[in-house]
Amino acid sequence: MNIHEYQAKALLKTFGVPVSNGVPIFKHEEAEAAARQLGGPLWVVKSQIHAGGRGKGKFKEASAGDKGGVRLAKSIAEVAEFARQMLGATLVTIQTGAAGKQVNRLYIEEGSDIAKEFYLSALVDRVTSRISFVVSTEGGMDIEDVAHKTPEKIVTFSVDPATGIMPHHGRTVAKVLNLTGDLAKQAAKLLDQLYTAFVAKDMAMLEINPLIVTKQGELRVLDAKVSFDSNALFKHPDIAELRDETEEDEKEIEASKYDLNYIALDGSIGCMVNGAGLAMATMDIIKLYGAEPANFLDVGGGASKEKVTAAFKIITSDPKVKGILINIFGGIMKCDVIAEGVVAAVKEVGLKVPLVVRLEGTNVDLGKKIIKESGLNVLPADDLDDAAQKIVAAVKKAAA
Ligand code: ADP
Ligand code: MG
Repeated sequence: MNIHEYQAKALLKTFGVPVSNGVPIFKHEEAEAAARQLGGPLWVVKSQIHAGGRGKGKFKEASAGDKGGVRLAKSIAEVAEFARQMLGATLVTIQTGAAGKQVNRLYIEEGSDIAKEFYLSALVDRVTSRISFVVSTEGGMDIEDVAHKTPEKIVTFSVDPATGIMPHHGRTVAKVLNLTGDLAKQAAKLLDQLYTAFVAKDMAMLEINPLIVTKQGELRVLDAKVSFDSNALFKHPDIAELRDETEEDEKEIEASKYDLNYIALDGSIGCMVNGAGLAMATMDIIKLYGAEPANFLDVGGGASKEKVTAAFKIITSDPKVKGILINIFGGIMKCDVIAEGVVAAVKEVGLKVPLVVRLEGTNVDLGKKIIKESGLNVLPADDLDDAAQKIVAAVKKAAA
């Protein structure tokens, strides 16, 4: 689960992390009071969307002006004007896709005097099974670009969970960022605070870009992107409350209600599979035969008929879906339950695209019988290879 920058900063502040003062607003009428409260003389008006690259982003509406999604304001009147322009407008950044995202919240923040911009992030590293930090002097820029062209400018290290942050970690960061004296001490302290916050709140990723040194000689977190491990949210009602569903894919929200592992993608073939590994293999084979999956969907081990019905409806509600491939290897999951769920869903919402069903394993004969007797227009398949070729061919034929 992702949260907004202003929420991430408020959370980090409770761990002592140095962030600037700021006020979130939802209506442009609130801008003036927010700016007055902060005092000035410099403010920054920041679009709050769940995507990065806001500074270099462009609004679709001409009325929003061409100054990007993060704007420096030199007067209260300017803060108010930017708020009027930006709220409700659609911001397109390298991370939003062409459709962009509507800006429904702004963060009015104190402006900082920036001397240097660095990059610092933490993530769960699956290779070392530890939390790793990524540090670079090249902050503010596109970090993927830096990683590609000048990888030596990025330093990573992981933290042993038994000891947590040690003094040598602080020294490493200070060395990478060329910080000495008091700034080196600030870096060590910050690292400790970030690691503590990361573990305490079960974060999945914490990205600070930029981390700055101000002209006054202070280290400060100027941007913060945080995501949490959804499987740990039950432990953190305070974090779960920060969820902004308007930022999420509607189909993914619906899927989460039924505890389905669903991720929307850009292709044309909807997939319903049991088990994450088989779902990955199914997506791979669809690509192998020249098409793209419209989603990742793992219905799980012991899915009920209701869950399968919900999953099927989510897939068919996606206008990008031009064909559906159901690929079930029944173990704990029974093929007849899948068949009943699919038949129930089709009765409710209809079926306008080709459907290929490949069933194997527990109760496979009963499953095939249910589908056959339902009168559904299903293309049966014998194995995964056959199923993938059939659905790709059917979708290509329908498009021709
Ligand atoms: P994004 O990464 O989405 O573009 P940032 O929060 O990183 O958004 O802001 C983009 C740039 O705007 C930063 O790299 C920084 O140069 C500047 N900026 C952001 N917040 C402030 C602030 N409070 N004071 C001064 N400059 C800021
Ligand atoms: Mg940034």
